[in-house]
Amino acid sequence: LDTDDGIITYHAAKTYPPVKLLRSTEQKRILITGGAGFVGSHLVDRLMLMGHSVTVLDNMYTGNRRNVEHWIGHPNFQLVNGDVVDPFAIEVDQIYHLACPASPPHYQKNPVKTIKTSMYGTHNMLGLAKRTGARFLLTSTSEVYGDPEVHPQKETYWGNVNPIGPRACYDEGKRVAEALTYAYEEYDGVQVRVARIFNTFGPRMNAYDGRVVSNFIVQALRGQPLTIYGDGQQTRSFQYVHDLVDGLILLMNGNFTEPVNLGNPEEHTIRDFADIIREKISTDVEIQSLPPTKDDPKRRRPDIHRADEVLGWQPRFSMHQGIEETVDYFRGQLQVI
Ligand code: NAD
Ligand code: UDP
Repeated sequence: LDTDDGIITYHAAKTYPPVKLLRSTEQKRILITGGAGFVGSHLVDRLMLMGHSVTVLDNMYTGNRRNVEHWIGHPNFQLVNGDVVDPFAIEVDQIYHLACPASPPHYQKNPVKTIKTSMYGTHNMLGLAKRTGARFLLTSTSEVYGDPEVHPQKETYWGNVNPIGPRACYDEGKRVAEALTYAYEEYDGVQVRVARIFNTFGPRMNAYDGRVVSNFIVQALRGQPLTIYGDGQQTRSFQYVHDLVDGLILLMNGNFTEPVNLGNPEEHTIRDFADIIREKISTDVEIQSLPPTKDDPKRRRPDIHRADEVLGWQPRFSMHQGIEETVDYFRGQLQVI
């Protein structure tokens, strides 16, 4: 903790960016839907450290009270157990709308609910933004580009999504959420921001949510084979969660209203990624080849020129730095999960 001219700066860890406590006139009332989830809980931490008042609205479908329990009892923090599909009333200045399951096994478990969460949930939160005059930020996804025919993906690409496949509930749900967001901007003058987030990882990922980073790390720590779906030649670009949180806050507080990609362009095949995890944890673990999943995007890498130009944002952490901390986190978790 540093103080300079009355400005307090927290330095939490080497893989955590320094955070400045804002003056009271700059502090806001903020709603974070899905704030008990993986990304949301890191956003809660940062905004709380900055001095804002934060309310989390979460139905705990894939979130966990444990992710935010360190703030419970703090006068600036409130945790509300509720579903975004139902209307919610509160007075706030900003809304970060994250609520939506993000891992394929979870969002595919109940596709109708996933679509309702994206559609009715986004509609409700935009209605709230309209009534309160709050600024609204949607966490959209690289999945709006589907199985892309353009590489890397720029925001101007319209995507290649199968509208009736197993991923449609998530991809089309987010596409309709984007359309709703811009309709509210156009017709009701709501101030909107849209982040298209690429694969993000870090501590507090759910160990069982089926995403590749948590699967491989947990499998390797347990000495189990790493499960590769298909030939492993499909690619992803992995971003460390603290970089994403930087980008979300810059986007919310900047002037740019069109969609912005937030991701780390460091691209790996899934096979390479398995080898990186084996090198870090244990080269004794084997690879198990499983059938490919339907409509799995073959290549994914963000073009982040727009984020750089309009927000001055670039990732600060390499994938390797983030993986170190994430492995340590899961090592700790394996004592309790
Ligand atoms: P997560 O599953 O950990 O968090 C989602 C949170 O939303 C959970 O706490 C869950 O309980 C809550 N939620 C789900 N449905 C809800 C509902 N109907 N009402 C209230 N709360 C509900 O996922 P995450 O990785 O933290 O993702 C957060 C957001 O970022 C999501 O909108 C996701 O689509 C987006 N995103 C994430 C990634 C990524 O790689 N993590 C990539 C692209 C987009
Ligand atoms: N994947 C894999 N083994 C796993 C989990 C995922 O090979 O145990 C692959 C999956 O098929 C996809 C990539 O890893 O090609 C990323 O999957 P994830 O679910 O993490 O994210 P998304 O598909 O939404 O990008």
